[in-house]
Amino acid sequence: MEANSSVAHVSVEGRKKEPGRTKEPEKCPVCGQSGAKEWVRAPDRFHGKLESYILVRCLACSLVWLSHPPEPSEIHEHYTEAYDRLISAAGESSPGRWRDRNAALVPHKQSGTLLDLGCSSGSFLESLRGKDWDLYGIEMSAESAEKAKSRSGANIFVGRILDAEFPAESFDVITCFDVFEHLYEPRRVMTKVAEWLKPGGIFYILVPNVDSAERRVFGSYWHGLELPRHLFHYSPASLRFLAESAGLRVVSLETRRNAAVGISLRYMWDDIFRAVGIRRTPVAYRGEASFPWRAARKLVRMTALRFLLILAPLVGDGESIHATFRKDMLPVE
Ligand SMILES: [Zn+2]
Repeated sequence: MEANSSVAHVSVEGRKKEPGRTKEPEKCPVCGQSGAKEWVRAPDRFHGKLESYILVRCLACSLVWLSHPPEPSEIHEHYTEAYDRLISAAGESSPGRWRDRNAALVPHKQSGTLLDLGCSSGSFLESLRGKDWDLYGIEMSAESAEKAKSRSGANIFVGRILDAEFPAESFDVITCFDVFEHLYEPRRVMTKVAEWLKPGGIFYILVPNVDSAERRVFGSYWHGLELPRHLFHYSPASLRFLAESAGLRVVSLETRRNAAVGISLRYMWDDIFRAVGIRRTPVAYRGEASFPWRAARKLVRMTALRFLLILAPLVGDGESIHATFRKDMLPVE
């Protein structure tokens, strides 16, 4: 894994482009308001790159987005094997999270047709297998889609969400976990979701919360920025606005704490070391931590982090937004 760090060095040196410097200011892609303000600059800290990206914030709806993102034809360069490993590991290692998400659906729907947008290797779909669901998924990666199909029995469309051709009013439930922040056209996708839902259908979505306590404390070091892979950053208000403008109605919208301050702290340390001339292996390429380091981290989690979690509500809301929206029974003309 260490050997891969040279790959990151090459790409840092190889790209001098500074997005956003020479182009016109953009209108808000969700509410259309102009006059968005530069909000923060940060690099791809996960891969230890130095190229700076600019995030801007809409003053009207509070949406934050990556100004002049990489072209869709280039974005795959920013999704490395290391990143895929991180995402798959997170999905596989926490069956509790799927139980919680199933439980969140129960008050609304217990059976019917369900579509998971960006289903990855199918951990969530598998958790519904054998119950009263007819399962569908959409996944960009053919390899992940194949895994999802074999473990969950779901029908998986391989490709972009907007290229899938489901008839209108096909689904009782559509889910989308940690995916919407990666989409180039969230407004069009939200409209598609509203079209695909049956009247009375539920859209259950999770995204990182850009107004969370952790983001406020760590600023540009917040791990949830994930530049340039996260193209949009939502607050509860901007997510609500986006869904309502597509004709959906809020059923519940809350933030939850799932602090992962270890990575944000690590990004801060990387910069402190860099300032004194020490270049550390980026998070993407580091190996398994040694036993003493793991023990030290556990100690910090049990003491300082517990204390921080008590104080966090004074600073801001939880790190992830969990929202359910409903399509009204009467079609909106
Ligand atoms: Zn806006």
